[in-house]
Amino acid sequence: MTTEPRAGESGTAAKNVAVVGAGLAGSLLACYLARRGYTVTMYERRPDPRTGKVERGRSINLALSERGLDALRRIDLDHSVMADALPMRGRMIHPVEGEPGFQPYSSDGERAINSISRGALNNALLEAATALPNVTAHFDHRLTGLDPKTGEMRFDTPHGAAEAQADVVIGTDGFSSAVRGQLLAHTGLTESLDFLEHGYKELTIPARDGEFAMDPGALHIWPRGASMMIALPNPDRSFTCTLFWPTGGTNAFASLSSPAAIEKHFAQVYPDVIELAPNLVDDYLHNPVGVLGTVRCSPWHAYGRVGLLGDAAHAIVPFYGQGANCAFEDVVELDRILDETGDDWDRALPEFEARRRANTEAIAQMALENFVEMRDKVASPVFQAQKKVEHALERALPGRYVSRYELVSFSTTPYAQVQQRVRRQQRLLGAAAGAVVLAVGALAAFAFRKGTGA
Ligand SMILES: Cc1cc2nc3c(=O)[nH]c(=O)nc-3n(C[C@H](O)[C@H](O)[C@H](O)COP(=O)(O)OP(=O)(O)OC[C@H]3O[C@@H](n4cnc5c(N)ncnc54)[C@H](O)[C@@H]3O)c2cc1C
Repeated sequence: MTTEPRAGESGTAAKNVAVVGAGLAGSLLACYLARRGYTVTMYERRPDPRTGKVERGRSINLALSERGLDALRRIDLDHSVMADALPMRGRMIHPVEGEPGFQPYSSDGERAINSISRGALNNALLEAATALPNVTAHFDHRLTGLDPKTGEMRFDTPHGAAEAQADVVIGTDGFSSAVRGQLLAHTGLTESLDFLEHGYKELTIPARDGEFAMDPGALHIWPRGASMMIALPNPDRSFTCTLFWPTGGTNAFASLSSPAAIEKHFAQVYPDVIELAPNLVDDYLHNPVGVLGTVRCSPWHAYGRVGLLGDAAHAIVPFYGQGANCAFEDVVELDRILDETGDDWDRALPEFEARRRANTEAIAQMALENFVEMRDKVASPVFQAQKKVEHALERALPGRYVSRYELVSFSTTPYAQVQQRVRRQQRLLGAAAGAVVLAVGALAAFAFRKGTGA
């Protein structure tokens, strides 16, 4: 693919697009739109993350998988971004007692999702976007007002209020999107925010004697029912852990307020972590608790001029590791639709929602279901046996039986089709299992009748 903006070719060079929120989706979208020939201006409420300090406890590692990689590959960003990533080929389950056990993600044990820090990924994408001649980024610009009919925007900046206008405004400003808030205030948009009772807190397992303290080729999980912790490896040989626990109540983050209580709780529930995480108490006491939830809203656009994309339109809980992957897939789909509509935003924005809505609803549901799998089921022998059967079926029926995890993480099959296909496979398996039970029953009855001479 060419790296030159396609200015003039499609007659779209006159369009100015404002991208509000220079996070993961916004930075990638800026790259894609600039290559179409648009003049892109990004507005980001934070200071430039490439020069500033990462906020404490907000470094979050992401698992980047095929959908995200596909979006990067299309504009030749996969190699530079993946330089900072570490492959994880399966889950390492840490029981309360006993040794951790490894469960591969794919039937051949080879396929991997990739651990990458959100900061490193964001910086790489910002770098790529701002290297393009028709992209400008304004940091410390928090959107506070938007007229969706005219594209006039207002921002709070350290130097006071600022104003700007654009032909098209795309809100990529995440879970608490201000652009969505403006559509809510000025148009018929409706929204629902379903908060999970669980929040999350970041903890760290540092390198030990310069080496990884655990296997870096796995996503580590401590499934504990009411709570759960995961850990993803970093290139500096540390692990970033995320502890999920209810935000309120007695069995919750707030129930541990003293160093002694924290140490006692971890000794009981996460005993191996005590030794692995020497800064546990400090991390626990000082790192913030983040909230998690699912955002649903409709419509995602107004007046052929304003649109929502990524978490701003459809934030999901993180348990399938798909939020960023899904947001990147949004960017690819919007780019495809702009191709198909000849950059007619009046048609493109509704079409984008029409094509993406069922898919984002499907992954929102699967992400909630996967929380139950990760925190409750992965440690159970029944679940582990099911996974072995699933992988055996994948090997026996290549391309005909494919697990849900494989379809979500290692393919770009639309999420809604993944759900339908998995349901179909389950029905067929159920029917096959039923047929086997009937056949065994019939054989047993036949043998019994023969034996009794009946
Ligand atoms: C604990 C956790 C783990 C996760 N793990 C994974 C994972 O493994 N894999 C995965 O794919 N996804 C994961 N996600 C989800 C992923 O982080 C999000 O889906 C992704 O960041 C969405 O990208 P976005 O650009 O839409 O929003 P964001 O990344 O949130 O970016 C929004 C940007 O908008 C800016 N902004 C906000 N308000 C304004 C305003 N008023 N004016 C201007 N700018 C504004 C913000 O500062 C930010 O830079 C995880 C999320 C969490 C919380």
